[in-house]
Amino acid sequence: MSHAFLGLGAIGAPMARHLAGHGAPLALWNRTAEKAAALAAGTGARAAATPADAARDADVVITCLPTSREVEALLDGPHGLLAGLRRGAVLVDCTSGDPAGSRRIAARLAAAGVAFLDAPVSGGVAGAEAGTLTVMVGGDPAVLERVRPVLARFGAKIVHCGPVGAGHALKAVNNALLAMHIWGTAEGLAALAKAGVRPEVALDVINASSGRSNASMNLFPDRVLTRAFPRTFRLALLDKDVGIAAQVARDAKVPSPLLQLTAELFTLAHHELGEVADHVEAVQVVERQAGTVIGGPS
Ligand code: NDP
Repeated sequence: MSHAFLGLGAIGAPMARHLAGHGAPLALWNRTAEKAAALAAGTGARAAATPADAARDADVVITCLPTSREVEALLDGPHGLLAGLRRGAVLVDCTSGDPAGSRRIAARLAAAGVAFLDAPVSGGVAGAEAGTLTVMVGGDPAVLERVRPVLARFGAKIVHCGPVGAGHALKAVNNALLAMHIWGTAEGLAALAKAGVRPEVALDVINASSGRSNASMNLFPDRVLTRAFPRTFRLALLDKDVGIAAQVARDAKVPSPLLQLTAELFTLAHHELGEVADHVEAVQVVERQAGTVIGGPS
């Protein structure tokens, strides 16, 4: 099977790297062409000039863009994906997209004889580099079985979640929980700091107790207490994800005050901190409001 990968951002690039070097042809495309050329040069892949050119010979085309909007926009025009995709091909969208956008894309592709799976990933840049991502798949399970060996190059856990859009819905809810844990842990540690409890003492206890989470066990010790705040996953993207989860709940008519509030808080933090800030930097908004800093030199 020959492959194409479009969207070589923070997580797309390490995912694409795992597809190279397996004997199957690989085409790479990125909006900023230099990134595709550099990755192609280092891996023996082919840098494609356009999305259509990337898709032309591919059995499996993978996209990893910021939102479903960019994926949908990539379909159209003389150099768009639909101009290159051949009948019988599969488009696997690893974007953390939205279910309604996925269903629209799937319908347009079906009319062209192309199958579609939404397949967002979890595990961060470190998981992408290690090839240990979790992949949440929506769509026809038989199509998933056809492409599973390709996804297994970067995914350690590949789960069929339901019909088209189910992967995107699940990913959005997962990330909304991540957002809640980051914000809640920040509020709690800020309050404790002002009450005289050092954050490393608080985390030591919480991480041996029932309030622990990935945020308390990994993100706060590694990124907040050290004040390192590495930029691995943009706050703008987490804001988008929480917004999708809030929309999923509204569409399902599920009362969801906490999801809606979290969406609002992360939109405010995104506006305050801008497009390049990392998701964990949202902690700094809580710190500023509280008038304290969690961690750092004592
Ligand atoms: P980045 O912002 O690092 O990269 C975005 C990519 O999309 C780049 O290749 C960029 O091209 C391309 N792009 C942006 N706008 C357009 C456009 N209009 N047309 C074509 N290409 C475009 O994002 P990430 O790689 O971090 O994230 C990609 C997806 O993966 C998102 O949906 C995100 O939520 C999800 N994700 C990210 C994780 C992470 O840890 N980073 C973890 C799990 C999921 P260019 O190089 O030209 O800017």
